[in-house]
Amino acid sequence: MRIGIDLGGTNIAAGLVDDSLSITVRGSVPTPQGADAIARDAAALVRSLCEQEGIRPEDLTSAGIGSPGAIDTSAGTVIYSNNLAFDNVPLAGMLSEALGVTGRIGNDANVAALGEFHAGAGKAFSSMILVTLGTGVGGGIILGGAIYDGFNGMGGEVGHMVIQKGGVPCTCGRKGCWEAYASATGLIRLTKAALEKNPNSRMAAIAEERGKVSGRTAFLAARQGDETGEAVVTEYLSYLASGAANLINLFQPEVLCFGGGVSHEGPYLIDRLKPLVGAELYPVGEKKTALRLAELGNDAGIIGAAML
Ligand SMILES: [Zn+2]
Repeated sequence: MRIGIDLGGTNIAAGLVDDSLSITVRGSVPTPQGADAIARDAAALVRSLCEQEGIRPEDLTSAGIGSPGAIDTSAGTVIYSNNLAFDNVPLAGMLSEALGVTGRIGNDANVAALGEFHAGAGKAFSSMILVTLGTGVGGGIILGGAIYDGFNGMGGEVGHMVIQKGGVPCTCGRKGCWEAYASATGLIRLTKAALEKNPNSRMAAIAEERGKVSGRTAFLAARQGDETGEAVVTEYLSYLASGAANLINLFQPEVLCFGGGVSHEGPYLIDRLKPLVGAELYPVGEKKTALRLAELGNDAGIIGAAML
């Protein structure tokens, strides 16, 4: 039995993961302030899960934690996390000490990709890239069964490749990053611009009915045959496809899968994306990267952490 901990800005979620990579028992607590309190509360959560399962923490094979920020995986430290105000925190060691079991740490996006690779959409494949379409565009690259994160642990930032030179400013300081276009935030920006130009469209009525513009607004309108919604979705998918094709051309992973809020558009998203990506690919013959939806949702972070 292993333990996986998913450390977020709001909650610490954890689960015991068995040999078939199922979560047998899970729980979560609010994230407290400060590294010491986080390690203490995470350890207390693990102990209570072990108690529910009738095992002792020291009987666990390992304890893994996925954390936001820049991680030195070999040293077991969070080098920096804006989110949690961490500065060189030896979180893996703190966890080991509190639980009496080897602790490991990884970046949360990479860890979610590892979970998806072992137990979700990547299960049947040898390599995988997970792209998470949320407020930003995150992701993780799994090559040869392991996270590829560069020599310093900072690799795999798929959202920060430029797809539009001189384009929309990104939170990272560059302009035209994939994240600025393919995130839900980017989609909402496109939707709002189209609404301003087309206040009488079906899409405008949908936004009005729902009282807000979200990442779903344009997709809802497009599915109902609205021209304005269709134009937004077409533009959005063209950006999504460019970045996806870049990743495939670079890595040729066996599967590229999409998670996060926008992926809830489901098969409709993948079916429309496939020909757009295909049109931009370097010719490779018969063996082509599969495009899939992520399958595990938030469980990917817990299972991936347990697999560290
Ligand atoms: Zn960027």
